[in-house]
Amino acid sequence: MLLVPVQCRVCSQIHLESALVVVAGNVPCECGGIARALSDQAYTAEDESLFDAVVSSLASSGVSALSAPQLLVALDARMSLPPGAALHRLSDLQPGLAVIELIAMGDAETARKAESIFETVLEALAATRSRSGLAPPLAPAPAPAPSRSQGGDNR
Ligand SMILES: [Zn+2]
Repeated sequence: MLLVPVQCRVCSQIHLESALVVVAGNVPCECGGIARALSDQAYTAEDESLFDAVVSSLASSGVSALSAPQLLVALDARMSLPPGAALHRLSDLQPGLAVIELIAMGDAETARKAESIFETVLEALAATRSRSGLAPPLAPAPAPAPSRSQGGDNR
């Protein structure tokens, strides 16, 4: 069974879906929204736990549409580096991602797969940002108070 990465347009959740239920790149999400296929890249059932681990490591590290592009830089030229080197760069930038480096450690194939999953998911997260710029004004986007420094205001 082949699985394709999809992201819901409503709840933004990213997960794998069986290619059999994805019709013209779309599949209904549990939330009632429609999820779209992220890439033509297909995974197998064996990859699902790794995929979910990557997604949850990003979520628990608080990686957002804003920080995803910075992490994507760590994956630049990953194929010219030894397997896992890009994972190490990622955990340097975001210590919460070290869990994936540990899972993939010592297995070149898993390391490469994890790198490609990070790329797919981070690109999807980064794209959420530009897409939300085109979203209708109804989209729940609480405007934060303008502040130049985050958390640096202690007066
Ligand atoms: Zn959804």
